[in-house]
Amino acid sequence: MGVENTVIEAIEFSEVEDIVIAHVRPRRAARGRCGRCGTRAAWYDHGEGRRRWRSLDLGTVEVFLEADAPRVNCPVHGPTVRHVPWARHAAGHTFGLDQQVAWLATQCSKSAITQLMRIAWRTVGSIIARVWADTAEGIDAFAGLRRIGIDEISYKRNHKYLTVVVDHDTGRLVWAKAGRDRATLEEFFDALEASGEGRCAQITHVTADGADWIADVVRRRCPAAVRCADPSTSSAGPPMPSTPCDERLEPGQTRGPHPPRRLAERPGGYGRNRTRSRSQARPLRTVEEPREPHRQAADEACVDRQD
Ligand SMILES: [Zn+2]
Repeated sequence: MGVENTVIEAIEFSEVEDIVIAHVRPRRAARGRCGRCGTRAAWYDHGEGRRRWRSLDLGTVEVFLEADAPRVNCPVHGPTVRHVPWARHAAGHTFGLDQQVAWLATQCSKSAITQLMRIAWRTVGSIIARVWADTAEGIDAFAGLRRIGIDEISYKRNHKYLTVVVDHDTGRLVWAKAGRDRATLEEFFDALEASGEGRCAQITHVTADGADWIADVVRRRCPAAVRCADPSTSSAGPPMPSTPCDERLEPGQTRGPHPPRRLAERPGGYGRNRTRSRSQARPLRTVEEPREPHRQAADEACVDRQD
């Protein structure tokens, strides 16, 4: 079941609903705590009776945990449904299911998640929000930020825009917010400065397209930073140039050209149908080649296997 501090009282299979139901209760030490803050609190009432939480499937069968959901009288929050050790407060899904959906969100499309996990489109968003709220507490996304890229991306068929900021050193997205104007970008620099005094001044390079609203804000908030006209300000873009950058794009100048890739350009085609001739085979590295000591054993093993 993947639950902790929990007593499993019984497990039943409901032929009517075609689901497995595990009847559970928190262990004594985990009982009588406020669901919001975890403070010990006195009993208040039975709340709305028994309640179910969707858990990870057992094969193709859906599994639910079912338990009483009484309320306690928290000195801070007043009458609140008590804390349960298997799920976040006010969530209808267990920690395990939340975690799996959040991981899937980093690996595949939202549509794929709704079909695989059999949950609603909006539920995916709710789960991501609450998992990230917990995760973000222990992460300083702005730590060591030096070289950043600022860009805008559209969604809703170009009717709405997000301003995004990426860290060129780690290749990660560090900030994003709806909007594409000075006020939105100012919010990023406000958040950066709020995370640590002097962090705006530590930015050394900023890549962006030729938008004035980006250039103006960057010039004011990071006056010492080198502003670069990067043809691709995404995290997957080319590495930052080590030589001094252009000050900025000329008015009216757009991003650098990206010649379209054509299948014909690559001999043998793409994907699993790609054929690799003997002459194209990736050469094995010889043991004599100088390389990092800790990789030597792995490379030798690789050579042995292929011999
Ligand atoms: Zn509380």
